[in-house]
Amino acid sequence: MFELQDAFARKFHYLRLSVTDVCNFRCQYCLPDGYKPDGRKSFLTLDEIRRLTRAFAAMGTNKVRITGGEPSLRKDFTAIIETVAATPGIRKVATTTNGYRMARQVADWRRAGLSAINVSVDSLDSRMFHQITGENRFQEVMAGIDAAFAAGFEQVKVNTVLMRGLNDGELGRFLAWIKDNPIQLRFIELMQTGEMDELFSRHHVRGALIKEQLLHAGWQQKVRAHSDGPAEVFWHPDYVGEIGLIMPYAKDFCASCNRLRVSSVGKLHLCLFGEQGVELRDLLAEDGHQAALQLRLRQALADKKATHFLHQGQTGMTPHLASIGG
Ligand code: SAM
Repeated sequence: MFELQDAFARKFHYLRLSVTDVCNFRCQYCLPDGYKPDGRKSFLTLDEIRRLTRAFAAMGTNKVRITGGEPSLRKDFTAIIETVAATPGIRKVATTTNGYRMARQVADWRRAGLSAINVSVDSLDSRMFHQITGENRFQEVMAGIDAAFAAGFEQVKVNTVLMRGLNDGELGRFLAWIKDNPIQLRFIELMQTGEMDELFSRHHVRGALIKEQLLHAGWQQKVRAHSDGPAEVFWHPDYVGEIGLIMPYAKDFCASCNRLRVSSVGKLHLCLFGEQGVELRDLLAEDGHQAALQLRLRQALADKKATHFLHQGQTGMTPHLASIGG
């Protein structure tokens, strides 16, 4: 088997697959004016997703994260989970969701084979949640997290984008929340994308500041495992939950990159930032193109760059994260 590996000897066992660009939230840092439908776009079908996952799995991918846009807006979302989970070689199927459908559907997702779930919760104050996400759905999302535990998930990961002047005073509240709950709370540094104006300079907070506070309060850093995502994870003997920090601007963030992305229209993105993507869709129409698809993936990987160059202020081609599955 040829494994997905780049010129820097990084291996890629983890695929982030976007299944739609559509989102029903209007997060200030992503789609503040809401999703604008683009009639020309058609998102990957279930069959295309099946062929794509098969090719990646044949090349060593064992974990797939289904994302978007808001992936649970797809009517066939449960079938997508089932299809990905049934692919030989795939051991872990995760999703990232805004959580608004979880209370009603998370048990079905679990039965379909979902093994891990990340929910975005930018504030524990319902008014602030509304202000950041554009939607007054805090209670629904929290009920969704309860439903995930009730459905049998042992841990839920929560994504919180750190924003100065909005939620950056909530550390104490978040810590109290995870004291007795098996939640891995992941603070994500705000990333600058192509459509952002002054929002980044107004609200960006360095994750390193939180790291200092955590270490000071007795939190300890865990050793990173091979299939882990991009977070630095911290634990504390008095807490059931954990804290993750995702700091894309930190030195060496890219050195441990183990992720590839495929957009909702079937383009391979070697990095969240900075390139146009490699077309795969022409090879997804039939089962017979598997060998050609694998060859294209292999050739594309030879071009993956060492880093995203965000440090140099490059925001690249990515207008907002919903467009290629953040
Ligand atoms: N709709 C789903 C959700 O809300 O989680 C999945 C897609 S969303 C693009 C994935 C994650 O990216 C969310 O946790 C969101 O907060 C995060 N995100 C989006 N834009 C971001 C940005 N500019 N900087 C940091 N995180 C961002």
